[in-house]
Amino acid sequence: MRQFKPLPADMVLASTLARRVQQLRDFRNMTAKDLAKISRFGLQRIEDIESGMETWLSATERQLLAKALAVEPVILQEAESRPPADDGVMIVEQARIADAVLQGTRNLLCPNCGSSLRCSIQEALDIHGYPTVFPKAYCSKCPFVLK
Ligand SMILES: [Zn+2]
Repeated sequence: MRQFKPLPADMVLASTLARRVQQLRDFRNMTAKDLAKISRFGLQRIEDIESGMETWLSATERQLLAKALAVEPVILQEAESRPPADDGVMIVEQARIADAVLQGTRNLLCPNCGSSLRCSIQEALDIHGYPTVFPKAYCSKCPFVLK
């Protein structure tokens, strides 16, 4: 097992994953090919990461790549930039669909798969016992359901 020196304390790490991976690889005197081999990522994958096409890694990938570069996984993680969380998008979509259903719109599309949603308005009593309406919608093709 090769011994790697720790990163110098005054080393200024690049801010993007692409540049940081390249920087760390250069620091370890590895070619992209070397890194591809050690990390088992494949050269294409390393090139995609270093060109900025891939901006974040899964936990497993991050560990492999960090190990190959002899750094802590957090060093890579802090330079990653993720697309907006699906959860956030889904909450907005849920609210939009709920509004549309209550307004009587029926030709709504599933935010997951684009199939048509089955929509209805359900009358029920709220927690205080007053009659109220709830929007209902579910997808005919995937598990999406309005919550
Ligand atoms: Zn769907």
